[in-house]
Amino acid sequence: MRVLLASRNAKKLAEMRRIVAPRIPHLEVVGLDDVPAYGEVPETGATFAENALLKAREGHRHTGLPTVADDSGLTVDALNGMPGVLSARWCGHHGDDGANLRLVLGQLQDTPDERLGAAFVCAVALVGPDGEQVVHGTMPGHLIRRPRGTNGFGYDPIFVPEGFELTSAELDAEAKDAISHRGQALRALVPYLQ
Ligand code: IMP
Repeated sequence: MRVLLASRNAKKLAEMRRIVAPRIPHLEVVGLDDVPAYGEVPETGATFAENALLKAREGHRHTGLPTVADDSGLTVDALNGMPGVLSARWCGHHGDDGANLRLVLGQLQDTPDERLGAAFVCAVALVGPDGEQVVHGTMPGHLIRRPRGTNGFGYDPIFVPEGFELTSAELDAEAKDAISHRGQALRALVPYLQ
């Protein structure tokens, strides 16, 4: 069975192959670089689930393949759940992880340590001939003010998962998969792919 992951992100492809493929024999996960190019939809949804569905519907419509898409981000309690769906472009433009992280830290300068609760959240959508499914994952934790660690990406260097002392940028990939928002959502997707 071929499934499209509607992403060009090599890390996400590797993650899906690592988490989902071993649980489903004969599953081949291909990315957007492996299918004929099509105009990708902007992430205009108000929720992670809406954005994931937008991308998965578009992928299925253009390729005919069952298509998986995800949307994820950081929600900070003291910022009323933001940056949320704007996590990737919080600083005003897309994909500048360093600027996004510095802006969040600046916004929290006067917030006491005990109110630095946050969570990574992920929605994964599957759209195929049998219809649509959306599954979710959440990794609760708190933020720290000085970035630590070089694994991962985005806000990982300032996020400490609940029950840990290391940041998610100090965990190795397998340890993060076991607790992460995307790991949980991808594992929840397995029965629907089967
Ligand atoms: P997207 O799901 O690829 O649109 O990513 C949204 C943004 O959320 C990323 O650019 C990161 O800033 C942030 N994000 C999502 N998941 C993670 C994670 O596991 N670690 C760190 N940052 C993340």
